[in-house]
Amino acid sequence: MTTTLITHAACLAHDTGSGHPERSDRLRAVLQALDHDTFRELDRREAPLASLDELVRVHDATYVDLILGNVPAHGHVMVDGDTVMSPGSGEAALRAAGAVCAAVDAVTTGAARNAFCAVRPPGHHAEPGRAMGFCLFNNVAVGAQHARARHGMRRVAVIDFDVHHGNGTQAAFESDRDLFYASTHQSPLYPGTGDRNERGVGDNILNVPLPPGAGSDAFRHAIERDIVPALDAFRPELVMISAGFDAHRADPLASLGLTEADFAFATTALCDVARRHAGGKVVSTLEGGYNLVALAASAAAHVKALMEG
Ligand SMILES: [Zn+2]
Repeated sequence: MTTTLITHAACLAHDTGSGHPERSDRLRAVLQALDHDTFRELDRREAPLASLDELVRVHDATYVDLILGNVPAHGHVMVDGDTVMSPGSGEAALRAAGAVCAAVDAVTTGAARNAFCAVRPPGHHAEPGRAMGFCLFNNVAVGAQHARARHGMRRVAVIDFDVHHGNGTQAAFESDRDLFYASTHQSPLYPGTGDRNERGVGDNILNVPLPPGAGSDAFRHAIERDIVPALDAFRPELVMISAGFDAHRADPLASLGLTEADFAFATTALCDVARRHAGGKVVSTLEGGYNLVALAASAAAHVKALMEG
């Protein structure tokens, strides 16, 4: 069984302007790392456009209209204090969400065991009705709802090891006990949510905040002792990963102090959960990661673990 890699050149055309950390060179660095001989067996596919039907399973229709209507003919527009749109941003956002839906299709039809979506803009800060933190549409939440609506799945889990809390995914999941969201993140840090006492309905939200400088042992402990047992209790039919790599010790936006080996460790643990409950089905999508060298090495370690998982 294979690992599918889904991406699209349109995701490079989302231009956030000079000096913005969430820049197209991030995706170039990831794709260059995945060009290595180690990854020659990846099943490589182009991301389709997400449909409006897929987006409105998570987002308000008025919000989708607002975002797509905001795409400028030239230059940039701000849709949030740090979220920028350029002429290429509408297609990039639709491809990013579409990639996750296509990845869900690939693993549920048996075409692949697992999949990684190398896309931008990222998604986990986007709330049902609000763009935030470099994110326009919540790609992973759109994929989770696609798995339920299109493939008849009931219980879907998202595990988010980006260094920031995925407030958008939590907002999309917290009132539905058949969706599970677990996050490790640095606290205090943007966006300020993700307290341990935010537990959703029926304990379907699990936040494991970690202090600055927490390091590998604390992260691995959170995965092994907190998140894996909760996933085993939830028994997901599909495991999804918000794979942000900004918890790496070289990242300029945070200071959790992880290495690429820690991301591989978490990936392997989540593949094991998927094997126990979900026939091995894992869909992962890129979130943050802002040091290009660390991002490339971390994404490579993550995808290698998926291929071995
Ligand atoms: Zn992040």
